[in-house]
Amino acid sequence: MEVSQKDEEGTMNTGAAKAAAPLRIVLVGKSGSGKSATGNSILGRMEFMSKLEAKCVTKKCQQARRTWNGRSILVVDTPPIFEDMPPTQDWYQDIGDCYLLSAPGPHVLLLVTQLGRFTAQDIIAVRRVKEVFGAEAMRHVIVLFTRKEDLEGEPLAQYLANVDNAGLSRLLRECGRRFCAFDNKATGDQQRQQLEQLMAQVESLERELQGAFLSTLLSQEAQLLLQQKNGGGECSEEHRRYLGLVQRELKMQRQDLNEAQVNCLRKRLHRLKCWPVSLISSHLDLVM
Ligand code: GDP
Ligand code: MG
Repeated sequence: MEVSQKDEEGTMNTGAAKAAAPLRIVLVGKSGSGKSATGNSILGRMEFMSKLEAKCVTKKCQQARRTWNGRSILVVDTPPIFEDMPPTQDWYQDIGDCYLLSAPGPHVLLLVTQLGRFTAQDIIAVRRVKEVFGAEAMRHVIVLFTRKEDLEGEPLAQYLANVDNAGLSRLLRECGRRFCAFDNKATGDQQRQQLEQLMAQVESLERELQGAFLSTLLSQEAQLLLQQKNGGGECSEEHRRYLGLVQRELKMQRQDLNEAQVNCLRKRLHRLKCWPVSLISSHLDLVM
């Protein structure tokens, strides 16, 4: 079962000053949407490799930090783990790494998608996000549209109000309509303003969740493993056990999602069966 927990990281029992826990942001979404470029915009420097290539250039999960307005921000960039591919050992390994780099759990899942190009691959990516981070994932999602420059000055909210894309509309509903846009080619003041807009969304999400981060069984296990490693223990056996757990949990989360989807379909079918009757009766109401 998943729970969201208050952030207790940084508490020191030595009586020394409390080290502030970083805000942990994980970049998620399909390959080529601009995750690495968005990470670089947040960091204000070229930390992650970002390129237009047929093959994704991000090979492994990576982590980098910056300080913004006195606050530490930790960004985790991800390789192609949100694609339409059968699960492999490497996939489980990458997800295990992602949990380790964002331990004790991400505050924000920044779902990156290209403005004007929300496709079937994005829908699959959203599903993968739920598989990887569990049923509570959407509560921590902020949608970030790249290529903001394509708006040519039109307000994002106005653009989205006129978009006719059922998948995108569902995503925005599911994540409580938290969204913003970046032009990842922007620099200087423009880059700073974009980050301010994203941080305003993050702060509003934090207020809503009272500072809670996404804590799943896997993020708790990742934290335990890190504590063992920091304690200087020999952890290869623990690491193997952890990866086995990642595999088991993900299979279960996938199964849960499938079941939820089947139930949802059943409900819709049931409503469809009822539809002609209700339509006829409302029609009769109009006639009478
Ligand atoms: P990833 O696979 O999701 O990490 O995507 P990348 O960060 O590697 O970006 C893929 C391509 O999109 C790169 O060529 C980026 O320069 C480009 N890109 C990303 N964001 C933007 C943006 O806001 N504007 C423009 N013009 N290009 C972008
Ligand atoms: Mg990348």
